[in-house]
Amino acid sequence: MKFYTKNLNGFLFASIVFGFAFGVIFPEFTPSLKLTGELFIRLLTLLIIPVIFFSMLSGVLNLQDSSSLARIGVRTFLYYTATTALAVLLGLVLVRVIQPGLEEGKSGAAAEILQGSAETGGDPAGVSGGIDDVLRNIIPDNIVEAMASGNVLGTIFFSIFLGIALLQLPPNASITALRDGVQTIFSAIIWMIDKVMLLAPIGFFALIAELVGGFVLEGQLRTLGDSLVWYTVTVMLGLLLHGIITLGGIALFFRINPLTFFQAMFPALLSAFSTASSSATLPITLDCLERRAGVPNRISSFVAPLGATINMDGTAIYEAVAVVFIANMLGVELSLTEQALVFLTATVSAVGAAGIPGAGLIMMVLILQTVGLPPDGVKLVIVVDRALDMLRTATNVWGDSIGAAIIASKEPKR
Ligand code: ASP
Repeated sequence: MKFYTKNLNGFLFASIVFGFAFGVIFPEFTPSLKLTGELFIRLLTLLIIPVIFFSMLSGVLNLQDSSSLARIGVRTFLYYTATTALAVLLGLVLVRVIQPGLEEGKSGAAAEILQGSAETGGDPAGVSGGIDDVLRNIIPDNIVEAMASGNVLGTIFFSIFLGIALLQLPPNASITALRDGVQTIFSAIIWMIDKVMLLAPIGFFALIAELVGGFVLEGQLRTLGDSLVWYTVTVMLGLLLHGIITLGGIALFFRINPLTFFQAMFPALLSAFSTASSSATLPITLDCLERRAGVPNRISSFVAPLGATINMDGTAIYEAVAVVFIANMLGVELSLTEQALVFLTATVSAVGAAGIPGAGLIMMVLILQTVGLPPDGVKLVIVVDRALDMLRTATNVWGDSIGAAIIASKEPKR
């Protein structure tokens, strides 16, 4: 067992490689793995709301005064906004340089593809909520319902609000006891996550094998046209450059070794990749930050849950590239004002997207509508969306984790 936990990174990586190979070689067996993958995700999802509530509450209570909460809050906000904006900018620059889909736009081929893919996915228009709904989610009218329905933003808001209220009360023995109690439950939840993580190699294997098997069975990989390949390459390049140069550079600037930190966060990144969900990965992200990267609990428990919900650098890059790609495919040239609109809406969409699979695709409908493109355009990118979702989610979690580490590096040690 000790050998297993010590070498978990290796086992996790192997499970992805074997999962991929299994999906390619035995696609017909992969549907039977569906339940295994699903049960693993359910185990993680089960822990999301408790982990958010207790980690945020213990994070705020451990800050001991509201001025450190304000300081960390402002820094977190600045980091999230700056990195998301940089991500969108990078996406826009890359898509202008590589110009995927431009030739098809000239030849009018996109209309055909739009028709051809009509059955591939339902029209997601109408599912997207827009900024009003994001605000409504932040302030739910019923906390029990918010928690029951998995409303992460509302749960975060309520936990911080309650934590601040407790900090304001005159210090007394019952508050100290409460803080210890919250900390104890949180430690117990972290123990549960640790145990779930031991099952991760099986979960990752099943998830990847089923996904790849599905692709192979449907023969979807072969439907990739040239333009879609370039689109995929542009998004992947953006994610890679952002992860290595922008985020790696920021880490170095704050004297954090990105390579060692990458190793510490490896299970969380692989989980993000396999589940395509920042929220489902949150329990693992917190565990890695605290136990493997040494980020103090009071910082990680505040910064990571917020990040999993609102800080999505990978999604931001993808939104920017995808919208311009769709415009190119449709032969529409975006004016400078429209590009500025793409910049703004892509930033807001990345904040508003939930940390669940496919959320970015739904938010894209919003951007398309804002710049006057048909919402149907998402069908042009649906085929590769799941694969890109996995990669952008890993980038999202990488961004959240670096944020937690650099904010921790600026806080006094105690
Ligand atoms: N799946 C992503 C996440 O959970 C969101 C997205 O679809 O871009 O971070």
